[in-house]
Order: sequence, then structure tokens, then C-alpha cells
Amino acid sequence: MADARIVIVGGGFGGLFTALNLEGSGQITLITDEDHFLFSPMLYEYLSGEVEEWHIAPKYTELVDEKVKLVSGATRQIDLGAQKVIVEGHNEPFEYDVLVLAVGGTTNYRGVEGAEQFSLPFRKIRHAAALRSRMVDALDRVAPDLPPQDARDALTFAVVGGGASGVELSTKMADLLRDAFKRRALPGEPRVLVIEMGDRVVPGMGEQIREVVEKALLESHVEVHTLTCVVQVGEHAITVAHNEVQTEINTAAVVWVGGVKVNPLIENLEVPKTRNNLIRVAQTLQIPSFQNVFALGDIAFYESATPTLAGTATAGKAFGGPLARQARFAMYTGRLPTWHHRLRVGASWFFEGTVPRPLLPLGIERNR
Ligand SMILES: Cc1cc2nc3c(=O)[nH]c(=O)nc-3n(C[C@H](O)[C@H](O)[C@H](O)COP(=O)(O)OP(=O)(O)OC[C@H]3O[C@@H](n4cnc5c(N)ncnc54)[C@H](O)[C@@H]3O)c2cc1C
Repeated sequence: MADARIVIVGGGFGGLFTALNLEGSGQITLITDEDHFLFSPMLYEYLSGEVEEWHIAPKYTELVDEKVKLVSGATRQIDLGAQKVIVEGHNEPFEYDVLVLAVGGTTNYRGVEGAEQFSLPFRKIRHAAALRSRMVDALDRVAPDLPPQDARDALTFAVVGGGASGVELSTKMADLLRDAFKRRALPGEPRVLVIEMGDRVVPGMGEQIREVVEKALLESHVEVHTLTCVVQVGEHAITVAHNEVQTEINTAAVVWVGGVKVNPLIENLEVPKTRNNLIRVAQTLQIPSFQNVFALGDIAFYESATPTLAGTATAGKAFGGPLARQARFAMYTGRLPTWHHRLRVGASWFFEGTVPRPLLPLGIERNR
């Protein structure tokens, strides 16, 4: 099968690394709806300006060689029987001998009114850029002579979801905003809320990790609301319910990291799935009823894997303490795709440093 047509759908951790590892075997086609890979664990550092876009979101053209055919566009339909994939913007379907599905997940707004329309997701580089702009914009609107309580009101940000993402994001946001308050000599403090429907943050992560997380939230002045549900999201407010009492809070932005669901492309695929729509795979990642089709990453479920691997790129490890940041950068350098990219980024982090970039007024942000 040296000439097998191998079509990979999705260029994230699963798809890109499959393409890189298969380079030279078969005719590989990588179909993606973005022109770049994203090292998502460092999206928080992109928000804070500690890393640059090229560090964590290199273009595919810089990562794969000419042996991999790159196809740009969203896959709209997969016909497992006819072994064809239909991609937006391409008249002809892509035929395959072997198919690798790695389209990942998408934000789950859980049907909450206004959530999809008004809250910001946090999964892509453009989402982090939009959030940063929103923070700068909100800061730019606060006059230095505003009473502290009004400044706090105007600089209230809600993060929905108290999982690992919500915690990491909220602390980064709070640190950036407090720093901006000081630099701009604004009165009072900003307000960053985490809204969590469960009775604690980082559910399922163990007591030791929770202690580290709670300390970090406290140090960053993040306000945590547990046993609290989001009822509605509006353009400038969020309504939450706690103990059956509803409260409307004015917000500069609501960021939704309150859940992930399987890509809609997979929802429509008729193969055995779990209740959460994850594709059931064998140990080889093959779909048992279609042996030439592989599913991996956030869309796949292998029942003998404990804990389940979907939803993580690394199967999860947590660090705390003063060396954690250095360890994180060092560890992540080694996990970037391709040696060439690792060397460039590693050198940049080592020689140029990785400090947060302050939230400066919009004109200066744009011209930097
Ligand atoms: C902000 C953030 C931080 C994270 N931090 C961590 C962490 O610290 N540790 C950890 O283990 N995990 C982390 N994760 C989870 C981790 O990123 C995922 O588990 C991992 O990316 C899953 O890999 P994947 O290949 O299944 O999907 P993805 O990496 O999401 O890749 C899916 C790819 O498919 C493309 N695509 C989607 N639909 C289509 C379509 N219709 N046609 C063509 N292409 C399509 C997407 O653009 C994307 O390139 C984080 C996730 C996020 C969002």
C-alpha cells in the first residue's frame, strides 16, 4: 500500500502529528479549515502576550514538506461507503483508501440563551485576540476620575466554567487587568468572576491540585461563584442563578469555557458512538465497522483507556510552585511540531524572554 491515498481531516494535535509521522508513506492529503496549527495549551500565554502568534500557531506550509498535499477548507460531508470526503470550496470530492478523522471538539453552549451569540469562545488564536481587544477596549473607556465602584462595574469580566481552562484563563485575565489598572492609574480594581455550576473548581482533578488552584485564584483576586448556573447571556450582562435566586451582572465580556462537544461533522456520521457522540474505536484507533478509517483525539473513545483521553492532548499533568512556569515553557518547547520549529521557538523564548505584554491603549497595541 505504498501508494495508498491517505486523507487526514483536521490539522490539530491528532491530524498534524499523524501527517508528520506518515510523511513518505503513501499519498498524504491533510484537509484543514485553518491555515495554521495551534498549540492550544499556550493560548493563555498568547492572550497575556508572553508568546507570539508564530510561536504557537505556525502555518502548515512551514511544518509539512511537499510530500503532504495541503487542502484548505472545511470538510462538510464524509461518505464512508463511497470512501469520499467533500470539502467546501472544492468541486471534486477527495477519494481515499485510508481516512484519518481528527476534527476535535467545539464549544458547548449547552443551549443557554444568548450564550453562543454574546459570549466569546476560547479555542482559537482569533478568540484570544478578540478577548484581548475587548479587554483593551473596556480599559480605554474608563476615565481616570471615575469612582472606583463604577470602574469595577465597567471592568467586570465573567468566565463561565471552573474547569482547568476557566481557572487558567481567569487568573491570566485578572493579572493583566490589575496590571493595566496600575499602569493607567485607574481607581479601584477590575473584577473577574468564575461561574461554576458544580460545588468546586477543577472538578475531578484531586485535592492537591485544587489547593494550588484555589491559592492562585485568591492571589489573582478572582471571584469564584460555585453552585451557580448561567441562565442567560446578553450583550452587556450575564444572568446567573444561585439557590434559586437570579442575579444580573453587567459585564464587559463573558468568556465561555463551560464545555466542549464533538465536532458537528462527527454528530452526523453513522458509526458506533458513546452517549456524548464520541466515536468508539479499537486499540488501533480504527473504527471496527470501517477498518480503513481511524478516529483520534477529542472525537474518539477507547473504552479500556483510563482515564478517558478525549479532551486532552497530553493525558494531563499539573505543576505548582515557583518553577512551574519555567517547567511549562521547557516542557512545551519539546512538544511543538517539528525540530525546526522547536529550535526557533526555544531560541526565541530563551534569548528574548517570555514576559506578559501589558494591555496598553488600543492605538499603541495596534502599532507595536
Ligand atoms: C485553550 C485550550 C487549552 C488546552 N490546554 C490543554 C492542556 O494544557 N493539556 C491538554 O492535554 N489538553 C489541552 N487542551 C485540549 C487539547 O487541545 C485537545 O485535547 C487536543 O487539541 C485534541 O486534539 P485533536 O486533534 O482531537 O483536535 P484539535 O487539536 O482541536 O484539532 C482539530 C483540527 O480540526 C480542524 N477542523 C475542525 N473541523 C474541521 C472540518 N470540518 N474540516 C476540516 N478541518 C476541521 C480544526 O481547525 C483543528 O485544526 C486545551 C484546549 C484548549 C482549547
